[in-house]
Amino acid sequence: MSTKTYEVTTYGCQMNAHDSERISGTLEAAGYLPVAAGADPDLIVINTCAVRENADMKLYGRLGDLRSAKKINPELQIAVGGCLAQKDRNKIVAKAPWVDAVFGTHNLHVLPVLLERARALEEAQVEIVESLEVFPSDLPSKRESAYSAWVSISVGCNNTCTFCIVPSLRGKEKDRRPGEILSEIKALADQGVIEITLLGQNVNSYGAEFGDRTAFSKLLKACGEIEGIERVRFTSPHPKDFTDDVIEAMSETKNIMPQLHMPLQSGSDDVLKAMRRSYRRDKYLGIIKRVREVIPDAAITTDVIVGFPGESEADFEQTLDLIREVRFANVFTFIYSIRPGTPAAEMENQIPEQLKQARYERLAKEVNQIVWEENQARIGTIVEVLVAAGEGKKDKATGRLSGRAKDNRLVHFIPDEDTQTGDIVQVEITDAAPFHLISDKPILHSRKTLASQLINQTSSSAVSLGMPQVMSQS
Ligand code: SF4
Repeated sequence: MSTKTYEVTTYGCQMNAHDSERISGTLEAAGYLPVAAGADPDLIVINTCAVRENADMKLYGRLGDLRSAKKINPELQIAVGGCLAQKDRNKIVAKAPWVDAVFGTHNLHVLPVLLERARALEEAQVEIVESLEVFPSDLPSKRESAYSAWVSISVGCNNTCTFCIVPSLRGKEKDRRPGEILSEIKALADQGVIEITLLGQNVNSYGAEFGDRTAFSKLLKACGEIEGIERVRFTSPHPKDFTDDVIEAMSETKNIMPQLHMPLQSGSDDVLKAMRRSYRRDKYLGIIKRVREVIPDAAITTDVIVGFPGESEADFEQTLDLIREVRFANVFTFIYSIRPGTPAAEMENQIPEQLKQARYERLAKEVNQIVWEENQARIGTIVEVLVAAGEGKKDKATGRLSGRAKDNRLVHFIPDEDTQTGDIVQVEITDAAPFHLISDKPILHSRKTLASQLINQTSSSAVSLGMPQVMSQS
């Protein structure tokens, strides 16, 4: 058994964050230990992302830094996994021959073997497979949070959005069977997890593989039956497949949180068509209207891409107009940039950088104003906050701790003496900033959960970092 230590760096979306938990679990099952704070690890794993801008620059920059670390310590091993590894495979070893192992998104479990082989053969091992060998959730996992967990329900995507590299890297959608998912959630609840986030590139098409179009709403309802699970979230839905049975399940199931992240991408039908997003503006608005009729307090957030090839001023105005109409709780805005290997990269009508930047700034200004006003409308309301760890560090100046409300808004509040990570507290909102709410009144009610009790018993080194807040792709 090896007693080598490791560290994992993650770039990208929640899929990658979850894969990193699996990578850590796989390494620990093979005898590795997490490196102690401040010490140098024997193994550095970089879990890459090909979706975000400058992903390769970020990776090669990091690998450049690691070259000198490896010169000082030739025993150090470096492994690169994730979407960029899947895409660039041999290029990584050609550009950075000091890398020991390159593995893909479909074969995380081979990492310990590749590292052994690299050590024995003294040469880089590259192993990328084109389709999934082991469903990621069947691998051991080392969760980042003691009270909150990702649960993978599907991997891959059957859509072909022209700006997106995911389908070519993660493959066609594969759905996990409901029984397996529910068993994992029950086991998590037994370990003190009180919040789960169901994860898939397109959760609404869940069940397509085994021929049940209502499988996702059934799964949501079944989550409501699991004792101990207080908060259920999911990401990402897709407007194309979002059906009324899901809205009904959300409203009828007590532990499904009043929160919906519904990626829009553009308010213009012409741009949606060019993006190969097979819904249109009216359909999107119809879904929002139905959600609000049934779940009036739902916080709805979205993603928007500005400056997609061919986007005219009129197209952009339609996006602004939709954003004014819906008044989202938050909008994650992206400037379109070319991703090699995607159909949109080949489009000739690319928008000049300056124009994209100008539109982005106009959009951001509008969004910030709306989001702030929506937050201000919460002043005077009582919200229930799950006290977070990573986000919940006490602010020295104000003495406030942080956590997430049921609708996922970030709340800074004044703790009691015994408030701790994993508690659920009720507070009155007294002020609002553009991206968080504030409560400067004493806590109205506080409750220990199984998670907070277990965290209290655990040594500080094992205490969770809280659920990472990462972006969707769909
Ligand atoms: S953007 Fe989302 S739905 Fe579209 S192809 Fe990528 S992963 Fe699939």
